[in-house]
Amino acid sequence: MSLASKTKDIVKHFEFKFSKSLGQNFLIDQNILNKIVDSAELDENSTAIEIGPGIGVLTQEMARRCKKVIAVEIDDTLIPILNETLANFENIKIIHNDALKVDFKKLIEEEELENIKLVANLPYYVTTPILTKVLMDKLPLKSIIVMIQKEVADRIVAKPGTKEYGSLSILVQYYCDVHKVCKVSRNCFVPPPKVESSVIKMDLRPPKYHVVDEDLFFNVVRQAFNMRRKTLFNALKPIGLKEDELHNVFIEADIDEARRGETLSIEEFAKLSNIIYTKLKK
Ligand code: SAM
Repeated sequence: MSLASKTKDIVKHFEFKFSKSLGQNFLIDQNILNKIVDSAELDENSTAIEIGPGIGVLTQEMARRCKKVIAVEIDDTLIPILNETLANFENIKIIHNDALKVDFKKLIEEEELENIKLVANLPYYVTTPILTKVLMDKLPLKSIIVMIQKEVADRIVAKPGTKEYGSLSILVQYYCDVHKVCKVSRNCFVPPPKVESSVIKMDLRPPKYHVVDEDLFFNVVRQAFNMRRKTLFNALKPIGLKEDELHNVFIEADIDEARRGETLSIEEFAKLSNIIYTKLKK
């Protein structure tokens, strides 16, 4: 039986009602499902954390290939369905909660998870908050493989000087090597979402550039992109330095203060924020 028919049968059998506000678009394309699981490179020593298992199709496929899957689902009406569709798997734990409220650090410790991949067909409304949470909390993840809205994937992989390049590109590329796995058509879901999707893989690694104060670094990045049309000098005025000190920051960093934030590489943002740090500390 095809994944599409299986999904439609389960939805019908349980009289499940899709919720738009929870971003419920279930994957019904076996080929894409395989691509997601293959790119996660799961084996008997790895564990997967899934956000939003839906009716559990991705969950099952991962459970067949790895040691343990922890699946976090917010929707009350999906829990009894998951209890049935995943009943034959002893290596799946369902957590009924909002993924944004889960203390993943504690969970990873309690469950003694190792070699962890975060894998999800993400509800699109939580993409940025989830990525921000797991990266800023420095969860010990090997990689993140997610299906997300194509536009957001384009922003994540964007290079300096492009219109897609912004705070999200820098947040992700500071912590990870990123690449797109594949584009996904709207027809691969039930119900079809309004937008196209992409699967994207992020491999976590130590940051490539030395940053003295990461909070300040990300604050500088946010300020620089807050008003994209402003020169860097004007955009960074609220950072807390006197104007002459701020001019000196750019001279020391050898960065033209009339440039726009969107042209700066991560390395240049790191340099800028490290010099700002020393001036703020004086
Ligand atoms: N994994 C399934 C699939 O691929 O077909 C379902 C993916 S669907 C795009 C998103 C899933 O995330 C839904 O099951 C939805 O109920 C769940 N969800 C939405 N918001 C959530 C949140 N804050 N925390 C956990 N799960 C959430």
